[in-house]
Amino acid sequence: MRRYRPKQKKLRSVKIPAELSKALGEAHERIEDADDPHRFDYDDAIQVGPICGGRTGGKSRPYEFTYFPTGDTTRGRWYLFLTESQIEDIGDGRISRLPMDCCTSKNCRTKFSKKSSRCDFCDYFEDDPAEVAKQRALVRIATKAKNKREFVAAYVKQFPDASTFSLFTDLTSLRGAEVRFGKISFPEEATNLLFLARGARKSKLLISLCKKLRSLAMAYPHAKETSPTTIGVNGQEFLGLSGSDVVIFIVLKLPISLRSALSHSFVQRANSESLRSANGVVVRLLASDKVPFSLLSDWLDESYRAVAPKDFVRAVDCEGCEAS
Ligand SMILES: [Zn+2]
Repeated sequence: MRRYRPKQKKLRSVKIPAELSKALGEAHERIEDADDPHRFDYDDAIQVGPICGGRTGGKSRPYEFTYFPTGDTTRGRWYLFLTESQIEDIGDGRISRLPMDCCTSKNCRTKFSKKSSRCDFCDYFEDDPAEVAKQRALVRIATKAKNKREFVAAYVKQFPDASTFSLFTDLTSLRGAEVRFGKISFPEEATNLLFLARGARKSKLLISLCKKLRSLAMAYPHAKETSPTTIGVNGQEFLGLSGSDVVIFIVLKLPISLRSALSHSFVQRANSESLRSANGVVVRLLASDKVPFSLLSDWLDESYRAVAPKDFVRAVDCEGCEAS
């Protein structure tokens, strides 16, 4: 568990860098120009150059900014609590120094304009050894990686059982990772990165397979799109389809061939309770999986029959005699 144990800080008069004064000048212009006084009442409402902030807690409160100094965006951060007139004065150069409570721990240059602020890096400690080791490994990986892809490659090596979700939460909770590598989207991007790191390759064939399967499903009597990723009949879904050119996921209901389908390495039982009780499976396909389309179309047919009303199924069996 992460516990609070504050380290000493030292109050110093710190010179305001030119980039910060310029950014606050621009921030002040935005505040002045705003027609709605509540426009900046959230914590990332103002993003100018190296600063990000807003006014949390209402109109009479000071503004809170985090300043990420160029070249020292992680442990060199400044946490600023400033009134509107202070912002203006710094922007105009009337204030050139600020009293800041500075972290004194080794390698930390974090500064706070409000007394008794807590440094995320220095004022907490983790008392679970497994978690400590994991965090160390994550920091090591992040320090070496030049970009998101390199991070994920090393991450998968370190944590072979990693899931899309664990990758997403570990990367987003790692301090400074978002600044260095950019945001990661869940589940799409996290899924793609994880599969690519495990050796999957991109292939347009997966996209065309999706399209083919989708149009085949839509050709069944009364088939309807029930969401962007599902197709149903009579309110019951018989095909789920999502993914990218790296991996695709096909959800089907297979009451008859469930067992034989599960013998394939690319088929798994669905996780959700409702799908499990309906013999639902998830087919996960990579470019390297050589799966005949006829197998998928047979399963799609079974899935449709599993949920469609009897007269719709009769219409499939009697192609041509269906009333048009
Ligand atoms: Zn610190």
